[in-house]
Amino acid sequence: MNLALFLDRDGVINVDYNFVHRAEEFVLTDGIVDLLRLAAARNYKAIVVTNQSGIARKIYTMNDFLTLTRYMIAKLEALGAPIAGVYYCPHAPEDGCECRKPQPGMLLQAAHDFQIDLGASWLIGDRPSDIMAAKNAGVPHTILLGEPPSEAEFTAQNIFGTIDIFKKRA
Ligand SMILES: [Mg+2]
Ligand SMILES: [Zn+2]
Repeated sequence: MNLALFLDRDGVINVDYNFVHRAEEFVLTDGIVDLLRLAAARNYKAIVVTNQSGIARKIYTMNDFLTLTRYMIAKLEALGAPIAGVYYCPHAPEDGCECRKPQPGMLLQAAHDFQIDLGASWLIGDRPSDIMAAKNAGVPHTILLGEPPSEAEFTAQNIFGTIDIFKKRA
């Protein structure tokens, strides 16, 4: 069994400018490279789980998303910050799919694909729906970027705060 560090994308990996879909808008958050290097050093697979309703809303295409995903993976890989997998929900909230967070579908699929021990894994997100997806998937260790109180196990002001928590607890 493998361990996972599940990561939301917009607001965690990159700065959330709303419906980011071009490389020019893709700005890494401060500290994310250090966090991903730490995860790799601790033998956690970094797996991105991201709601991308901009596809259903036709703000951008699936191809735009996949092109940006390749860019993200290559950029991070070159910095020694590997991403093992990327899962995305292309649906709109009203579609009622099983993948859009807070549903656990993306995490469950990743667990199947990578033989992840969900009960010993972590998730970092910037919205309550990220934390709920973790809970719904049976991932106990969660960090919400933001202010307490929250449903998350921990909260952190920024990525450096998540590094402190992950370093101590993971
Ligand atoms: Mg987000
Ligand atoms: Zn979906």
